[in-house]
Amino acid sequence: CKAAGRGLFEMFSPAMRDEAQKRASALEVARQAVALDRIEPFYQPKVDLDSGRLTGFEALLRWRHPRLGVQLPETLAHAFEDPELGITLGNCMLARVISDMRRWLDMDLPFGRISINASSADFRQADYAQRLLTCLRDAGIPPSLLGVEVTETVFLDRNVESAQKTLQALSAGGISIALDDFGTGYASLSHLKQFPVNVIKIDRAFVSDLMTDVGNAAIVKAVLRLGQSLGIRVIAEGVETAGQVSFLREHGCNLGQGYYFGRPMAADDVVPFIRSWMPSGQA
Ligand code: C2E
Ligand code: CA
Ligand code: CA
Ligand code: CA
Repeated sequence: CKAAGRGLFEMFSPAMRDEAQKRASALEVARQAVALDRIEPFYQPKVDLDSGRLTGFEALLRWRHPRLGVQLPETLAHAFEDPELGITLGNCMLARVISDMRRWLDMDLPFGRISINASSADFRQADYAQRLLTCLRDAGIPPSLLGVEVTETVFLDRNVESAQKTLQALSAGGISIALDDFGTGYASLSHLKQFPVNVIKIDRAFVSDLMTDVGNAAIVKAVLRLGQSLGIRVIAEGVETAGQVSFLREHGCNLGQGYYFGRPMAADDVVPFIRSWMPSGQA
């Protein structure tokens, strides 16, 4: 009948079709970027707020488009959710990061610790931790030089036990674990007890208007106290101003990352960045 027919048709509203189309084209773009070897890590510095020293970098995915230039991962969000493509992107990033680290070690460049972001797709592989550790070993890179940043989505979509196993294997192998986007998900507090977490990353959303929003200031202070009482270090992301730096230092935040210290940069720019950051005589 007509009514039923219309009902069926309405299941695919224009909005849904748009969404599906966006998703499909994001996947296509990602597949092409992988096939054409255009995926590359950019590196954003992390700084010890007390000493002002560089402690390492976070590797963030970028891809280069011949006409459009360097592209951000936003449109790739769908690709990370796709089980197959998510794993492929993770593997591409890992291979590039490991080869950059190897090159920097050969140059005696004190880059600190490099963190990669793990997706849910990565965590769905039972051998993820083992594969990471094997890659490091094959490249002769000490596992303590690598960090893995995970968000709570890693725990939510799969059974908690397998995520826990992976994290324990990474941690036992000497890889540092950071809980990313802290405060934006739920059940964060129990995760901190349940999993081997070395670092809490306060989400940019709370840091960005720290100075004007008393609610966010209160959240940041609470996370810092929580870290102190659990013996977990805290890093603030999205630090953009000197005012934020002094607030964070005043309240005992150990580490910071954000445009104030440096934007994500190509691997080639990391070398001069580190050299300019180092106190003279140390290079
Ligand atoms: P994230 O892990 O929370 O990364 C932090 C994001 O904040 C990055 O965006 C970074 O460029 C941006 N950011 C850092 N400092 C500032 C600042 O001071 N101000 C502002 N406005 N932004 C700042 P990006 O590079 O666009 O990455 C977005 C998200 O994409 C990441 O969020 C992460 O969830 C995901 N992503 C990026 N690379 C990878 C990857 O290799 N693997 C996986 N699984 N996810 C990735
Ligand atoms: Ca991250
Ligand atoms: Ca984050
Ligand atoms: Ca984020």
